Amino acid sequence: MPTLAHKIRLDPTPDQIQYFKQASGTARFVWNWALDEWNRRYAAGQKPQAPALKKQFNALKYQQFPWLRNIHRDAHAQPFADLADAWLRFFTGQNDRPVFKKKGETSDSFYVANDKFQVADRRVKLPKIGWVRLRESLRFPGKILGARVVRDADQWFLSVPVSVPDSIYYRTRTGQGVEGVDVGVKTFATLSTGKKIVGPKAHRRALRRLKIRQRAITRKMQAAKTPIGLAPQDPLPQGIRLPRSRNWDKAKNHVARTHLRIAHLRQDFLHKTSTRLCRENQAVGIETLSVKGMMANHRLARSIADQGFGQFYALWQYKADRYGTQLIEADRWFPSSKLCSTPGCGYLKKDLTLKDRSWTCPGCGVTHDRDVNAAINLKGLATPTALPVATRPVRTATVPEHPDIGGKVTPARHEATPESLLSASGQEEVGAHHCAPIL
Ligand SMILES: [Zn+2]
Repeated sequence: MPTLAHKIRLDPTPDQIQYFKQASGTARFVWNWALDEWNRRYAAGQKPQAPALKKQFNALKYQQFPWLRNIHRDAHAQPFADLADAWLRFFTGQNDRPVFKKKGETSDSFYVANDKFQVADRRVKLPKIGWVRLRESLRFPGKILGARVVRDADQWFLSVPVSVPDSIYYRTRTGQGVEGVDVGVKTFATLSTGKKIVGPKAHRRALRRLKIRQRAITRKMQAAKTPIGLAPQDPLPQGIRLPRSRNWDKAKNHVARTHLRIAHLRQDFLHKTSTRLCRENQAVGIETLSVKGMMANHRLARSIADQGFGQFYALWQYKADRYGTQLIEADRWFPSSKLCSTPGCGYLKKDLTLKDRSWTCPGCGVTHDRDVNAAINLKGLATPTALPVATRPVRTATVPEHPDIGGKVTPARHEATPESLLSASGQEEVGAHHCAPIL
């Protein structure tokens, strides 16, 4: 059965937050212990295995680390499985090599097995601390597979993967369209219909505010130097740690929260856009996006990270599966921008540069918008496979709809038609109009 995860904001009491921090610290400590042991055994020519390491740890843990008794055992058992998983991903080329986790540099989280907690309406009962309030109730029915308590900025979340029945997982499309989508840095996505979807560019717009808040941290850090006889600009001598003031911590939280809000704004946009493209189409032609390759270009790197292309493609693929939409990926070398999209023309403009936002085809005389032209060519790739045989049947007949499950999908803001783009002074302006202010 397919799995869906629901991440729900927690409303913990101060005591519960204290426990969350300790449990996350424990998970981090055990991970580091296991990784260290793993590396040692590997260097000694052995083949380390997670269960053996766990056994070794369990034999000594309560003598050597008596404080572990205060933390539920799942928090110190799971890192072994996590580490085994991380190595597997490393050896199959999906991840970088597992590294030691440093406090404040990796996100805090710990695991709870599915038989150790209980979700009831808008609260969850966790081991050692009892009931914690949830901001919303669990969205998916099905078998709960486990949970992780996760910190983002100064907020805590419960992430619950649920194995759901097919009738919940698979969704009904509302349309049978075939579309081509050109994803770009200037305009987030251009559709073959000519529609341009401008990304929220949340990060860039918040950058100014972020800078102000980051300066506040710097000021607090500099203020902490005066009592130990250093001038604000003096470098910190090695081995000296500045006393952390409460206001310094507050400033840090402020920045973290700004980052979190930016991430949420971006996520909201990516979710709505990817859902809409899958829900309305039976086939979508897309470009192969080598995010890594594009990130290597430093001038583009921030825009690409800002737009969240990697996340967008991941969401797209998983939603295409849920909606039975076919994503037809173009070949890496497919000249989507350079090919004339006029039916029957097929002229290839070899000297098209990245700067050319539009071009006139010498073959047929039509002037193309670069992105729309590319989107139409990508649509052309999707068409022969999409109609009429290759499509999966729409599921209305066999599977009942669950309008209450999966959340309401509202149309993405940040959308603009070519006309409104022309009437506005620029695309960024259009995005700014529709974008919620960053608080
Ligand atoms: Zn042409």
